[in-house]
Amino acid sequence: MHVLILGGTTEARRLAELLVTGAGPRVTSSLAGRVAAPRLPPGEVRVGGFGGAQGLAEWLREHRVDALIDATHPFAGTISFNAATAAALAHVPLLALRRPGWVAGEGDDWHEVGSLDMAARVLPELGRRVFLTTGRMGLATFSGPELAALWFLVRSVDTPEPPCPARMEVLLDRGPFALDGERELLRRHRIDVVVTKDSGGSATAPKLAAAREAGIPVVVVRRPTGPEGVADVATPEEAVAWVRRLGG
Ligand code: NAP
Repeated sequence: MHVLILGGTTEARRLAELLVTGAGPRVTSSLAGRVAAPRLPPGEVRVGGFGGAQGLAEWLREHRVDALIDATHPFAGTISFNAATAAALAHVPLLALRRPGWVAGEGDDWHEVGSLDMAARVLPELGRRVFLTTGRMGLATFSGPELAALWFLVRSVDTPEPPCPARMEVLLDRGPFALDGERELLRRHRIDVVVTKDSGGSATAPKLAAAREAGIPVVVVRRPTGPEGVADVATPEEAVAWVRRLGG
């Protein structure tokens, strides 16, 4: 049995680790190629786009894939729709592995918005010194003159390319992050507002606890909706059980 995992997340890597043990199926993980030096999962790895849904369907047929698992980031909208179309075209069973979103708790001051554009729009009302954790791809959204008075601490895995916020410091780092470090970061940079996507999971959640403790507002960008009719699970272990039921 051949399983293709569409990856780029901690959960995708964990799933590959769980599947390749023992007499498990053949496992190929696919990465988009955005990160210069990605943490590679065990098993086979391929890097780069497929050329849309048709290209992915072709790849599934050519490589005799028996099961497709979309374990991409909840904000990777295009590839999830492509996976749904390609799975239908190639008649391959598809499962989405999606970590659950975060939920506001007691003491949180969250401002939920539907897009990065909306996040940029509400920012000036909330603070002046911003901890921006939405990744380097959407930085152009925060580069406009209306935000020129704000200062940004931008955390990303790779160096961002312009257009970027006018006043910013870049912190190159990748999760998981610990609460102590996040507290210290907010304090040292006198952060008064945090911006995050609702990525979910535990690796990047400590910033939310640190903001809560410090009474700092958090702008949370809600997830885009994924394709309809795709079965989904929340953990790599559940995805393994699905593969086993298919005979892998
Ligand atoms: P996207 O907008 O959904 O995808 C854009 C294109 O990139 C897709 O059409 C596809 O190209 C290619 N692609 C995406 N994921 C791929 C994969 N796993 N394997 C091969 N090709 C892939 O995705 P994105 O937001 O740019 O994210 C790219 C990758 O980074 C994803 O794998 C995701 O898991 C990871 N990631 C994204 C975020 C985020 O916030 N968006 C955060 C952390 C990690 P073709 O059409 O040519 O096949």
